[in-house]
Amino acid sequence: MAYETRYCSHCANPLQWITAAEDGGDVARLRCSACGWTHWGNPTPVLAAVVEGDDGRVLLARNAQWQEGVFGLITGFMEAGESPGSRRLPRGAWNRRGCVPSPCGCSAAPNSCV
Ligand SMILES: [Zn+2]
Repeated sequence: MAYETRYCSHCANPLQWITAAEDGGDVARLRCSACGWTHWGNPTPVLAAVVEGDDGRVLLARNAQWQEGVFGLITGFMEAGESPGSRRLPRGAWNRRGCVPSPCGCSAAPNSCV
């Protein structure tokens, strides 16, 4: 059964299409103007990638809240309507880490990304 989310699940205010800054830039989503809740459209699928440079080093993710010495793969949520083949990597994964994918699919990563 298809349904449409029209009201905030926190305060019952009608949702509106509101553009706000996210990791990948400004994005219009259904948001609550009263409490700020965002309807994510169930972006459950996640992509992960192993990005290896010509020198054999692998690009890893690091979160300041993680235990020392813990790293992860580059990951990100897919947007509603995207398919795994529609992007080399999720847009947010690159932007969040300050990395810039080149047209060949390689990345230029600042020192904090490697
Ligand atoms: Zn609300």
